[in-house]
Amino acid sequence: MTPIPQIPTPAHTLADSMLSRHFGRETVNYFSSSPINRLSFLRSDHPFLSTALKHPSARFVLLNNLAPLTTPSPVQLHYAKYDEIRRLVPQDTFDTPEEDMLKNYDSSKSHATLIFLGLDESRKEGGLAWKIYQGTPYFAVDVTPKGSEEQQTAAKDVISTMEAKGLSFFQTRVHMSFSADEAAIYAQARALMDWNTRNTFCGTCGCRTLAVNAGTKRACPPTDAARTAEGKTVERPECNTRTTLSNLSFPRTDPTIIVAVVSADGKRILLGRSKRFPPSLYSTLAGFIEPAESVEDAVRREVWEEAGVTLSRVVIHSSQPWPYPANLMIGALAQVSDPAHETISLLHDPELEDARWFEIEEVEEALRIGTGDLGAQPGPEYKGGLRLPPPTAIANQLIKAAISAEYFATEKQSKM
Ligand SMILES: [Zn+2]
Repeated sequence: MTPIPQIPTPAHTLADSMLSRHFGRETVNYFSSSPINRLSFLRSDHPFLSTALKHPSARFVLLNNLAPLTTPSPVQLHYAKYDEIRRLVPQDTFDTPEEDMLKNYDSSKSHATLIFLGLDESRKEGGLAWKIYQGTPYFAVDVTPKGSEEQQTAAKDVISTMEAKGLSFFQTRVHMSFSADEAAIYAQARALMDWNTRNTFCGTCGCRTLAVNAGTKRACPPTDAARTAEGKTVERPECNTRTTLSNLSFPRTDPTIIVAVVSADGKRILLGRSKRFPPSLYSTLAGFIEPAESVEDAVRREVWEEAGVTLSRVVIHSSQPWPYPANLMIGALAQVSDPAHETISLLHDPELEDARWFEIEEVEEALRIGTGDLGAQPGPEYKGGLRLPPPTAIANQLIKAAISAEYFATEKQSKM
């Protein structure tokens, strides 16, 4: 079984503060808390990007159809050097200002998507120094063979060179075996690359778009320098994305709620399972937030729709980026105020196969011996009974919080 990576807790989240005395310690979820400083304000600074791109310390996360380049054992991200990808990312990539890139746009030429992820400031030695910022630059590059013939050849070349070194592109449903730092780096790279791949055409006029702002925005260029087979210019229609304030396409983040629900007496937790779960696995309830809905309202709606249970107080606990493809899981704790509202009904929304109230003792035991992800087996001590998601899932952290006396001290527990 793959060991579950330790999620680091940055020092500042443990520091004493008035807020932590009132609300308790901050939870840091897997895929979050990246060591990289994104420096988003430098994404349009082409002299900086050009220097970072060619800096000897620069590290490149390579993605082939979103599968990251990894070492075989243990499976960790392998960072390529600029020299290894220069055929895909020409040296003059950031030589012209963004404005000119848009003016000179030519749809007959295609380029691999390149994203600036940021600087790892913990790797200062040998790193890039730019104004007051210092660290190792990180980029993500799409090596999927696509686009022009030239781009495809270069991509295949990069892939075969890497594979000849014993490296491979790790394709799996959810990447849970990376160290916590690498998981956060991969999450950022994957989410942005996926968004770029899905938005190659303008949602307003239907023409091709161009990645700008170091791969974090896409624009609809006004003209096209390409020529048709007859030598004619390629016309681009008027597009109001160029004239209105919202003149760019930004990456999407889809907010989702996920909640651990506690009974009125604080002694039981509501969990549900979908048909695709392995036997005995239950988890917290979850669903998408709808337009014009608060997080708290979405929590109440989802729990009522899926389980028929009516909630009172909802408290936001922590959040987790989930780059499959663009979710932000907003984790909450909630409680039922009246035992009459605890009756479960699966008749409204058929999403869950089952929902049940579990006694805290059973949940504690399952956290101890029965956790594992959808594909993995629980630990050797597991002899049957309730199974729960692994600590890398926010569901696990919410369940832990819901049984902790920190939040839900019953009278008996608080006297202890
Ligand atoms: Zn357009």
